[in-house]
Amino acid sequence: MAESTHNLMDSDRKRRLITRLAEVVIAHADELTALDAAIGDGDHGHNMKRGFEAVLQDTETLSAMALPELLRAIGVKLLSKVGGASGPLYGTLFMTLGKQMPAAPLRGGIADALQGAVEAVKARGKSDVGQKTMLDVLAPACAAFATGNSLSSVAETARRAAEATVPMRATRGRASFLGERSIGHMDPGARSAELMIAAVCEEFGGT
Ligand code: ADP
Ligand code: MG
Repeated sequence: MAESTHNLMDSDRKRRLITRLAEVVIAHADELTALDAAIGDGDHGHNMKRGFEAVLQDTETLSAMALPELLRAIGVKLLSKVGGASGPLYGTLFMTLGKQMPAAPLRGGIADALQGAVEAVKARGKSDVGQKTMLDVLAPACAAFATGNSLSSVAETARRAAEATVPMRATRGRASFLGERSIGHMDPGARSAELMIAAVCEEFGGT
């Protein structure tokens, strides 16, 4: 990624980013729901699809916004539309990103905002890494970005991290009710986080 996203974040880029993010989640809704059916209540894909369909409907308005407002608006939308545990958590993630992202950030500024957003999710979820949740992907991927990894390597970190939730035992969220029986399945929120990270990394990968 270039040093500053200032020129990289024109409205075409924002439109592509929103579309990519929303479409990857919507395209994987059945998979996310199947993962949640195994260790939760089988609504994660449906929840996320509802939220990102609402985001997609607002693509034109959103892509005209400055990056911080755009991120905050996505967060508000996810908070009100997704529901479940993941709605408030992804809502918090994007709203905090919006709050902490400088309008024309350098890589360090983006990394700080990401770190702040991960901390906000932990606070909101009263959770931490190691509990078989979305945090087990968000935290290592943000750390990989902060230490200067290429975007393809950040995406690869997210992929491996989602995979690494399979042998974990859930101690937060609905899957924790299953205790030992949560072992052997990928966490649905870890997978949705991986998909979103991959979409963003792909969008910026060539720049
Ligand atoms: P619900 O569990 O209410 O049905 P979803 O199915 O939409 O909500 O989302 C489930 C996902 O949310 C889990 O796979 C997990 O990644 C994430 N999650 C649940 N609770 C927490 C928490 N306290 N902290 C972080 N992530 C959580
Ligand atoms: Mg669920």
